[in-house]
Amino acid sequence: VDATTQAIYQLHNDAQRLYQHTLLNTTSGEAALQYLHDKRHLTDDIIKTFGIGFVPDDNLLLSYAKNQNLSPSLLSASELFLTNSAGEQRDRFAGRIVWPIKTERGQVVGFSGRALDKDNSIKYMNSPESPFFMKGRILYNFDRAKNVIRQTGTAMIFEGFMDVISADMADQKVGVATMGTALTSDHVHQLAKIAKRILLVYDGDDAGQTAARRSIELITNNTKSLEIGVVHLPDHLDPDEVRIKLGLPQLAQSLTQSIQTPIEFLVDDAKRDKNLSNQSQYLQFLKEVMIILGRATPVEQDLQLTRISKEFGTSKQALQAQLAQTLQQKSN
Ligand code: ATP
Ligand code: MN
Ligand code: MN
Ligand code: MN
Repeated sequence: VDATTQAIYQLHNDAQRLYQHTLLNTTSGEAALQYLHDKRHLTDDIIKTFGIGFVPDDNLLLSYAKNQNLSPSLLSASELFLTNSAGEQRDRFAGRIVWPIKTERGQVVGFSGRALDKDNSIKYMNSPESPFFMKGRILYNFDRAKNVIRQTGTAMIFEGFMDVISADMADQKVGVATMGTALTSDHVHQLAKIAKRILLVYDGDDAGQTAARRSIELITNNTKSLEIGVVHLPDHLDPDEVRIKLGLPQLAQSLTQSIQTPIEFLVDDAKRDKNLSNQSQYLQFLKEVMIILGRATPVEQDLQLTRISKEFGTSKQALQAQLAQTLQQKSN
């Protein structure tokens, strides 16, 4: 890389070190540290392992960078600072807890910053897109996870980095996350090089389930070699909430045991927004199911039709006939 990029990389490494020091060893980091301990149940060991820090309000990084004689244009290119209308720079993540985002090789190239409390500030702010921080390519924690992914053949994809950290605490060290953006085919290709199987572990809320549907589609369209599983989490929680509310053993259990096939997930997902005791909504559900099953193997079709027949009391013959009819219409 060129000298400017090298200087930007160095500044990110220094920033990470200064922010972590602020969190762990200074009074300005006390409230943030207390929040991470008490509200997020993180130990100092985990905080150090993941390089978490806190950015004070006093332009610590700006002062440091000026002492290093770094030029204003370099500071601007680093995206670690904000510039006001008067042209004055200040630390971009001031007042936030920050998680360093690293490349596959472990170079810090950005941060994600979380507001401490729910005042009127936006919850998360990430480093903006730049030539060295491309969200469509970066996978959080890939530097730590890739060897274990290669050894075990499995990768887990999460929505948030706190979910990756929670999984790590539950001894699942193959987690990565996208940076607040959708999964891309570039992400999938990076994982497909070293994994045989991808587990999608999205939040249990509607946004998470929609993201899971989208990712199944994307992975299926990009590679035939990857097996896909979808982890079902209890009570519409996200993995981090499962750890904090239900406990680490429950999270470990979900991540290893509550795995659905994509077809199973999609059929359950088609139930979500419907009142299935209402006849027209039940028929609409069946219509969607038949379309989903059009892409399933004969055994998967049989498994799902058996399940639906048992759950709703519709005869399996009728369900099979409707599937045959749907497939017939599709081929016409
Ligand atoms: P927390 O547990 O800290 O409350 P979360 O990780 O559960 O937050 P979600 O709202 O589920 O947060 O979002 C998942 C991920 O999406 C976050 O980890 C973050 O990377 C990203 N994200 C969320 N909101 C934003 C935002 N406003 N801008 C950029 N990225 C965001
Ligand atoms: Mn969410
Ligand atoms: Mn979440
Ligand atoms: Mn969360």
